[in-house]
Amino acid sequence: MGKTNRKEQINSVPISRFQIDSLLSAFDQDQTLLTPNHRSAKVIMQAYANKKKVGEVWSRPQVFAIDIWLQQLWAKLSMNGIEPFCKLQILDSFSEQCVWTEQLKASAEKYPLLNIQETAAAVSHSYHIYNQWFLFEKLKPRDSKYSQNFSAFLYWSKHYKYLLEKHELIGLSDAILILIPSLHELVRFLPSRVLLVNFSDPPPLYARLIGTLEDVIELSYHTRNTPDISSKTIPNEWQPNLNSVKRLQFPNLDTEIRACVRYSLERVRVNETEHVGIIIDHEKEHDFLFWKEFNRQTSPRNNDLSPTKAQYFNTFSSAQSLADVKSIELALSFLELNQTRIETQKFCHLLQCHQFALGDKELSARISLELLLRNNFSSTTRLGHLQSVMQREGKPYYCPHLSTLLTKFSELSRRPREFLSLSAWAELFTRQLELIGWPRFESEDYLQWQKSLYQLSSTSAIVGELDITGALRQLRSLLYQTPRRIVFNDELQISLVSLDEALDFDFDSLWFISADDQRLPCSISPDTFLPLSIQQEYGMPRSSYKLQLEQANLILTRLQRNTHEFILSHHKYEGDLEIRPSPLSRTIPLSPVPDIGSTNNLTNPLHPVEFEYVQEPLCLPLTSVIGTGGTSLLSNQSNCPFKAFATHRLGAQKLPNLQPGLDAMNRGSALHLALEKLSTKFNHQEKILESSAIIRQKFIDESIEPAIEQMHKQHPDVMTPTFSNLERIRLSNLLNSFLEFELSRSPFLVHETEQQITWDHSLLSLNFRVDRIDKLNDDSLVLIDYKSGKKSSYRWFDDRPDDLQLPLYQLAIGSNIGHISGAFIYQVNIKEVTLAGATDKEDLHPDIKPLAQVRLFDGTWTDLQERWNIIVLAIAAEFEKGLLAVAPTRGNQTCQYCDLSSLCRINDQKNLLDKQDELTP
Ligand code: SF4
Repeated sequence: MGKTNRKEQINSVPISRFQIDSLLSAFDQDQTLLTPNHRSAKVIMQAYANKKKVGEVWSRPQVFAIDIWLQQLWAKLSMNGIEPFCKLQILDSFSEQCVWTEQLKASAEKYPLLNIQETAAAVSHSYHIYNQWFLFEKLKPRDSKYSQNFSAFLYWSKHYKYLLEKHELIGLSDAILILIPSLHELVRFLPSRVLLVNFSDPPPLYARLIGTLEDVIELSYHTRNTPDISSKTIPNEWQPNLNSVKRLQFPNLDTEIRACVRYSLERVRVNETEHVGIIIDHEKEHDFLFWKEFNRQTSPRNNDLSPTKAQYFNTFSSAQSLADVKSIELALSFLELNQTRIETQKFCHLLQCHQFALGDKELSARISLELLLRNNFSSTTRLGHLQSVMQREGKPYYCPHLSTLLTKFSELSRRPREFLSLSAWAELFTRQLELIGWPRFESEDYLQWQKSLYQLSSTSAIVGELDITGALRQLRSLLYQTPRRIVFNDELQISLVSLDEALDFDFDSLWFISADDQRLPCSISPDTFLPLSIQQEYGMPRSSYKLQLEQANLILTRLQRNTHEFILSHHKYEGDLEIRPSPLSRTIPLSPVPDIGSTNNLTNPLHPVEFEYVQEPLCLPLTSVIGTGGTSLLSNQSNCPFKAFATHRLGAQKLPNLQPGLDAMNRGSALHLALEKLSTKFNHQEKILESSAIIRQKFIDESIEPAIEQMHKQHPDVMTPTFSNLERIRLSNLLNSFLEFELSRSPFLVHETEQQITWDHSLLSLNFRVDRIDKLNDDSLVLIDYKSGKKSSYRWFDDRPDDLQLPLYQLAIGSNIGHISGAFIYQVNIKEVTLAGATDKEDLHPDIKPLAQVRLFDGTWTDLQERWNIIVLAIAAEFEKGLLAVAPTRGNQTCQYCDLSSLCRINDQKNLLDKQDELTP
């Protein structure tokens, strides 16, 4: 039974999306309507409901997607004890894929695969096509001309059938093959009259099924207001009607979407019953781009960025899977706490979340805990260890409630056996999520989640017993395969549809975006496992350009007939790539592009918003001594005053990432340590010269061990014996190259390593360490800092250098320890080992040019020192003054590696400036 909807109560003329009138007599005669897919059945049902009067109660008409109808028929025969139907259970698509996955796993030795689950989905699809085109009758399996893929497919298919037989199961296409010859004896279970709606050119299996049904019951056809492909009334080539079809070209996708949204909003504003269609490409995430643009043009201050909260259009297939939904992702993250080792990063996300029993309780302690974990923990850890940390009373990260909740959570999962059936796991997961109070609110997503758990349980018999990792993998796979259900809103006049979906509807106006030569006709994508020559011989979908072209001509002809105004648009460039328009639209003259306003127009044409300009103070002077930050404080100030202010005065920092494995920083500090140890052992160039290869390697090996120990302490789970050996090899290669470079320098001895310095100046007290100080033959000293990253330009001769490390070193050390004749960065990485810096000396190393030969600086080392001192003091004074201008010294180049753009809002500033430029006559 159904009831008329709200739209009809408000508006006596509902939006017409489908002409139902020609089907009404079939409903009156109680006919069963079958459609090729679920989507078409839903559209018909919706149109039927719209036809009913306000408050009228009506019976659900018999409208089914053919596959659903066949499954129901099979179930009916089974309930009546008719063989073989009562002996075999039809699989749903996920269970079917589970069988394929098990089968592929079992044959891993013969056919090793990288991604079993993805391959299982592809093989399952090929198997249905194989049945639908009766290829088992046509192909000889032993024919050597077919590919290895096809041999593998046949091998898997044989074993798949064997597995199904064993479990008394059957897939849908095999079930249809059994049903067809039996239909003559099953007439009493069939409806007497069936109307087939929109079946144009079905695959041979369905054509044979329809042919057999035609023999046993009264069967008629309905193909909406357009003829069938097989009727030959459609011309081979689409003939655009230039009175109703327009072609537009835009410079890029952004402008194309903006124009389309503006057009659609105008159409629905002028006529409140108009149905506007937009044909998009789900794979390119057009739906999200459209949602953003609708949001921008209708309510730019909408703070809720969830597409479900701000709905502007209906869509009929979701680009999102259930696993992509945030609340479902959260449930999965909680369930992963059942594993022996858990991902620290995921646990940090859980700490931020308030959508479970604790809500905002202990929020500030949870934030402190997250900071502690991000700064001190490795990428994986044990839940028990985390609980012991959060139970430390008196610490800012003390979270007793969270700890108690997690204890109860873990207690639930205590079980007698490691391996359980999927139904037992599903039951446990449900209880655990109930305990932690997930979800806080019931929703359509939650209903889908419950159905998914039920579906998971029903595959228990197929996959057998699994451990927790296997059970979670199975659940995740199911959620990824389940498209998120989209709620249809009858009040919305705009529909975003794929090309196929567009054929199910009538439109008053239709806009086909990105109608380029890749989409129209669609590029070919033949089936992976079936021989291509066979696919082309039997005209299987997407197997040849000719077929795609025919299909595209047919679709355009139909769309043109189902709409009053039809726009095809395309854009000329995607990045640097030039895009060609569809060959099917080239005969349509280009129409002038409508005015769509400026790219940088932040205000909304429909709801203009006045910006409020607030003048912030330019300076907030430092009032007490600052003792942290080291040399980076001055380098940051030199690069961008706001960066220094935010980092060293506000303490702003990007949350450290808990990437699995070692990051560049871990590796860099390990190399620093090894270099320091090696420079202490070889503290004189002569020592290197005099040492044998064996001694050198011995010293290298000894220098590496403390570095390996340090990495082991930081990442015990990553530094396995094998991985530690790999790191030893990496460090050994670097240290060998380093010693070779040391030998190519003029004579030196290592005067100091890791010298601790404090530079006190006014309100600054900066601590840092100079990696190494070398003494040269003339007793002068050179300052050295090791760097393990890529070589970069430090801009030492600019007014605001990128890096003030060396200028500050030489100023802070002064002449107390002797005469300094140069300062250098020692670059040590796998690409090169080299020295870069400034000196007057000519014979230090062939790589080092003396300042007299440097084009960018006109002066001696002493001149440079004086200049550096002035710059360092000026920049220090600027920091003390508290200058907080958002002013990156080298524009985008400076911002490129800065993490603070969301705080300084440099991009908003740029947009506003652009806009002001546009407005200035
Ligand atoms: S992103 Fe650029 S402007 Fe913003 S703080 Fe960083 S360097 Fe400065």
